[in-house]
Order: sequence, then C-alpha cells, then structure tokens
Amino acid sequence: MEGFIFESMEQYDYENLFFCQDKSLGLKAIFAIHDTTLGPAGGGIRMWHYETEDDAIKDALRLARGMTYKWAAAGANLGGGKCVVIGDPKRDKTEGMFRVLGRFMHRLGGLFLAGPDVGTNLRDMEIIRMETQYVVTIPESWGGPGDSSPATAFGVMQGMRACLKEVYGSPDLHGRTVAIQGVGAVGEHLVELLVKEGAVVTIADIEQSKVEQSAHKYDVKVAYPEEIHALNVDVYCPCALGAILNDQTLPELRCKIVCGSANNQLAEDRHGELVAQRGILYAPDYIVNAGGAISGVDSLNPGGFNRQRATETVSRIYETTEIVIALAKELDVPTYRAADLLAEQRIAMVRQVKSLKTKGDT
Ligand code: NAD
Repeated sequence: MEGFIFESMEQYDYENLFFCQDKSLGLKAIFAIHDTTLGPAGGGIRMWHYETEDDAIKDALRLARGMTYKWAAAGANLGGGKCVVIGDPKRDKTEGMFRVLGRFMHRLGGLFLAGPDVGTNLRDMEIIRMETQYVVTIPESWGGPGDSSPATAFGVMQGMRACLKEVYGSPDLHGRTVAIQGVGAVGEHLVELLVKEGAVVTIADIEQSKVEQSAHKYDVKVAYPEEIHALNVDVYCPCALGAILNDQTLPELRCKIVCGSANNQLAEDRHGELVAQRGILYAPDYIVNAGGAISGVDSLNPGGFNRQRATETVSRIYETTEIVIALAKELDVPTYRAADLLAEQRIAMVRQVKSLKTKGDT
C-alpha cells in the first residue's frame, strides 16, 4: 500500500486530508476536503465501525467528492467535504469524543461545515456546537433547520414532478402510481406528500412496524420488499439502500421513472447506461436527494435559518432535474453523466469568475 494516500488524493484531485485522534477520549476521525472552488467544504459527519483505517480513508474521500458534485449541481456555494469518525455509533459515542471533534473542527477555521450523516444525529451536532460554530445542521430549538428528512422528501417530489413532465407531458402527480422502497425518515414523509397530491402509492419495508405505521396513517397499498422494484408503476422510488440499480434488478424493472432519495443508486456507472437503454428515466440520486442539505445550509445566510426561503430553494430541484434531463438529451448521454457534467461546468465557470481579481483579493 505504499503511496496509497497521496495516490488516492491525486486520482480525483483532493485538496486536504486531516487526521485527528485523542486516545483518552477515544476519538479517531478523518476530514477529507475535496474541492473548495465554490466555497468552504460542506458535508456530514459519518460514524461507522470501519474494518480498517484504509476503508475509513477511502470512504471519507469518496463521500467528500460526492458532496462537491451535490453542492455544485444544486447551485450552492460550497465545496465537497466529509468527516468520518471510526467507531460503533451504537456503542462508542461519548460527549467527550464529539466535543474534542468540535475542537478539531474549530481549528480548521470554517474550512469544513458539518451536519449529521449515517451514525450521527442532531443531538451529536448539539454537542459539537458547544465547541465550534461550524455546524450548520442544528435543532430547530437552536435556530437551525432540525431534521433534514422532510426537506429531502420535498426535494425528491420536485425531481419526480420534473420526470413526470418529461415522460407524460405533465408534472401532475394525481393518479400517478409510485412504488416507495423503504418508509424510514424520508420515505414516510414522501408517502404523506405524494398521497396528498393524489398519487397512488405502494410501499414496502423490511421492518413490518414501519409498513404498518404508514399503512395505518395513509391510504396506501403494501408490497413485499423483494418485489417493490419490479411493480408495474409510473415511478419506482428507492428510499432505502444504495446500489439498487444492478444486474439483478434492472431486467426486472417495469417502471417508466426511477426517482428516490437513496444514495448511490447505481451499483456501477454502467447501470446508468443500461437503465437509459431500457427507456427508463433515471433521476440522478444526488440531484433529487439534495433537499435536506440545501435546506441545512440556509442557516449560513445573514440572519440565520429561514424555513420559507429554504423551502423555496429546495423547490428549485424541479428546474435542476429539468436541466439535467435536457443536457442528457442534448449531449446524448445518460442522466447520471449529465448531472456530473452540470456540476463540473459550474465549478469550471466559478473558477474562471474567481480568476478575475477584485479589490480585497490577496
Ligand atoms: P432510514 O434508515 O430512516 O430509512 C430507511 C428505511 O429503509 C428503513 O425503514 C429500513 O427498514 C428500510 N429498508 C432497508 N432495507 C430495505 C429493503 N431491502 N427493502 C425495503 N426497505 C428497506 O433512512 P432515511 O434517512 O429515510 O434515508 C433513506 C435513504 O435516503 C438512504 O439511502 C439515505 O442515505 C438517503 N438520504 C437521506 C437523506 C435524509 O435527509 N435523511 C438525505 C439524502 C439521502
């Protein structure tokens, strides 16, 4: 593994990788900063029991780069970053660990702006906030946006409407059939929003209690988890796991559109080509699931978080999805590639803008 770290950083041109440890407080954390052309690096703090340190480094790098694209395509002035904390989120969390992490973050002086991710929650953000102001996603009682999943669900619905417009000529959800895989934090909010719009919703979850909870509250049909992706519906909406567009599921799809919140839906890039070849419109995951992130960074505006403004910004996911679809058609590329191109074009444009020096630039 000689040269592994710099080799990995060079591959996609990462700016920084910071390692932090405090033995007595049990902290081992890595901050990866990918590209800050657009602004400070924004990203979640993930806590996970990585098998090896290399796995943790690779995950931090991969996720930070993903954030660069997510912010760029969303029109936000933020770069890509991620923090990973090595440990079992169910067993190893302590106040001391997160407070010292906050102190390390503070040393970065605003280079990295944080929110929760897999394995961390708003309570952990509150603790980090005791040591640094560079946490953007904090509870509503602290003047922050609170839980990000309603905004994520709202954003997914905007992306879905843009896809419906493309495929059926109207963004109207009324009477459209949608199969939602996973009724967790995002999926359940989506059920509520879609049912309100008159969509005919089918749900599935591996946790029976969650299915029962949604089916009790809303007028929905229920399917088995192993069949939900293969239903004959207008929209298949993955809101559970990643890599659900793969060699096994792709031939079984009978939908016209795939649009959901799950991260990394394509098992490999080639599945993005294959889904397009099957005539199915794929809404790139990081375009349509950016609502929670977009809403979170509204706190950075002067005066702090404003829900109405945040919702308005999230609703632009409709236009962004339209732009991605149009770009895919214009360039004759799959939508996942068009999303990447949109992000890369915006970064290149801002780099060019910033090359013109103004008063105050050093
Ligand atoms: P969650 O853990 O609250 O919900 C996921 C649900 O999927 C759970 O109810 C789980 O039981 C279910 N599930 C797991 N495997 C399944 C399977 N094989 N079939 C059916 N259901 C299954 O997570 P969440 O916060 O709702 O996030 C859902 C997805 O969206 C994740 O991929 C997440 O990374 C992504 N995402 C979430 C947000 C957010 O704001 N929460 C933002 C961006 C992306």
